Amino acid sequence: MDMHTDFPILQTGAIYLDSAASSLTPTVVVDSMTEYYTRYRSNVHRGLYASAEHATAAYEAARASVAQFVGAEKSEVVFTSGTTLSLNMAAHMTANSLGATWQAGDEILVTSLAHHSLYLPWQQIAAQRNLKIVMVQPNADGSLAAEDIISNITDRTKVVLLTHVSNVTGLILPVQEIAARCRERGIITIVDAAQSVAHLPVHFSELNVDFLAFSGHKLYGPTGIGALIIRKDLHDTLEPWIVGGGMVDTVGDTRSDWSAAPAKFEAGTPGIAEAIGLSRAIQWIDDNGGIHAFSKSEHMLYAALIAELQQIPDLQLIGYSENLQQHTGCVSFVMDGVHGHDIAAILAEKDIAARAGHHCCQPLMKHFGVSSTVRVSLAPYNTLDDIHQLAVTLKNIKTILGLS
Ligand code: PMP
Repeated sequence: MDMHTDFPILQTGAIYLDSAASSLTPTVVVDSMTEYYTRYRSNVHRGLYASAEHATAAYEAARASVAQFVGAEKSEVVFTSGTTLSLNMAAHMTANSLGATWQAGDEILVTSLAHHSLYLPWQQIAAQRNLKIVMVQPNADGSLAAEDIISNITDRTKVVLLTHVSNVTGLILPVQEIAARCRERGIITIVDAAQSVAHLPVHFSELNVDFLAFSGHKLYGPTGIGALIIRKDLHDTLEPWIVGGGMVDTVGDTRSDWSAAPAKFEAGTPGIAEAIGLSRAIQWIDDNGGIHAFSKSEHMLYAALIAELQQIPDLQLIGYSENLQQHTGCVSFVMDGVHGHDIAAILAEKDIAARAGHHCCQPLMKHFGVSSTVRVSLAPYNTLDDIHQLAVTLKNIKTILGLS
């Protein structure tokens, strides 16, 4: 896909291979936000003047476009600042509103693929409530099948935390299959879709999960916006975790009545420009063939990337399960005798952006026996030439560092 004209940053010759950290943003998205700020800047759900009505209509249209994009109902889409807030909200609302009958020793099931933002809220809750966190590890080849997770469900399991796509290995988890088993047993499912929504079709109602979280900035949208999709039959039971303006019907001295969802879960002034930008990003995806086309293009690039990396001496792929179709375009590796940060620094000198570190997944690093990896992650604005340039630099890295 030739998209370079949509991204001025790429016209400088920069090679961007860090879309898992944050994707680039096409100009049309920035323009849509500028239009809001310059033409109809006002708050939403409050004023009766023209710009306020325009802003409210645009903000609610953004909700509708997110709902359609992820196969949810409009009332199920709660705008947040991003995945981290979404996952904290899901955790605390679940524990506070659905966990009254939980006993000490009840279990929260998670995999070590979990980003810290999925796992840490539950670490806090588990410490307060004496719950047990059960962590499932991927297999030696990096794979993790539905049964590997389902077989760890017990009568004590109350919540299953699922990473739809790993931000380290790009592995896709069979969420739908796992969630079906959880539903049969009345177990709550919370899905971190931060790395899936931009890379494969995601359909909330088909996945049949309770909560799904993602960020706009990994979906070609702006920073500071994301969503928590909340299954509608939980709306009445869940107590909001953040309270304030814009989410109440009546406020009394000692108790108040919440508005209906999604307002109930959106206290305070939301990211209005950001929601508008996110919906423009979704439209941009559709204008470019839709998420199926993105996924296809990314897989073609990914196959080329893996083939190149497998030929580089001393480079070891981490958590690559040998099954291209089970991964999105995100891969981690280490190189014998060379620190990941040195690799990232040399790549940076060549204007190639890649990321080295633990990627907010320390338990997974521990499982693989490494302190960090170099991660390369793709988007459809990448080209085969980007991958070739990466490979050329990686092949020469030991020479550049004076190690061979
Ligand atoms: N989960 C995953 C899998 C991620 O990759 C990230 C971002 N690295 C997050 C959660 C957190 O997203 P954000 O920083 O946008 O809140």
